[in-house]
Amino acid sequence: MAARSRASVAPSPSSGSQLTYLRFMELFPDNDACLEYLKNKFYADGTSCPNPKCGKASKFHRITGRSAYSCQYCGHHVYPTAGTIFHKSTVSLKLWFWAVYLMSSTRCGISAKQLEREIGVTYKTAHRMFKQIRTLLNDDSEDQLHGDVEVDESAYGGKPRAYETRNNLGRISKTHKPTILAMVERQGRVRARVIPDRGTRSIHTAVKRHILPASMLFTDEWNAYETVAKHFLAHKRIKHQAHVYVDGDIHTNTVEGFFGLFKNGVRGVYHSISTAYLQDYLNEYTFRYNRRFSDYPMFYAILDRVEKDRPASS
Ligand SMILES: [Zn+2]
Repeated sequence: MAARSRASVAPSPSSGSQLTYLRFMELFPDNDACLEYLKNKFYADGTSCPNPKCGKASKFHRITGRSAYSCQYCGHHVYPTAGTIFHKSTVSLKLWFWAVYLMSSTRCGISAKQLEREIGVTYKTAHRMFKQIRTLLNDDSEDQLHGDVEVDESAYGGKPRAYETRNNLGRISKTHKPTILAMVERQGRVRARVIPDRGTRSIHTAVKRHILPASMLFTDEWNAYETVAKHFLAHKRIKHQAHVYVDGDIHTNTVEGFFGLFKNGVRGVYHSISTAYLQDYLNEYTFRYNRRFSDYPMFYAILDRVEKDRPASS
């Protein structure tokens, strides 16, 4: 077998992002390259000039020394970063792209502490950058989950113990810890939401919003699943209280696997996270999980989410 070329930069199949660091540095060596990427995304050749008096399909040329481009016909200025998370940031565009790259190239996430060390910004800045990148990672607008869908809930900080969930009458009561509801298609996508509690109303709202009615639900025997199941094609439940965990195809191992991934990741990478940001971290994990079989580099999948929330002009 021929020795692998030392110059080869082919990503290993196990790489989380399929974009090597070397390739990333070739593509985005400086601020200009990053700005050009955003220009091509928002103002590719042939884009209509946003100046209402012009409106022609135009080419936009870089204005030397400025983060702006101008219309070839009327000279109207456009700013590729305007309305994006990068706009008016004291952090350079190159460092922003680097942060996106770092977040996309790990399997379990990366802490703001590590970003601080890697790119040389303060911890506060690193924390804010990741927080803003996470705002791009919400998959809620995607199609509802369908097929075989496992659903389970978990109190953040662990499932409530039996003595915490039962009152003296032996009835199960709600927990007041923030609850994560995770819904996972077998071999497919996940959706995970922070819900106020594990009561019927909270669970029904989330399950009905995120799962197509023509789906098969797999859950444990928690009462809220029993009652929501009538809105779905069918329901199979595993009897955890009877210490049955797998019965043929009836199990919730997939969704429990997701919880394991999330909790181990949080414990290992972030140590602990504030409840206020719990949904953002879930979005990051679900975004990564939902693309685990994709050949498209997650780096670009994140940059594809960068949008302009207002028209850029001067
Ligand atoms: Zn124009």
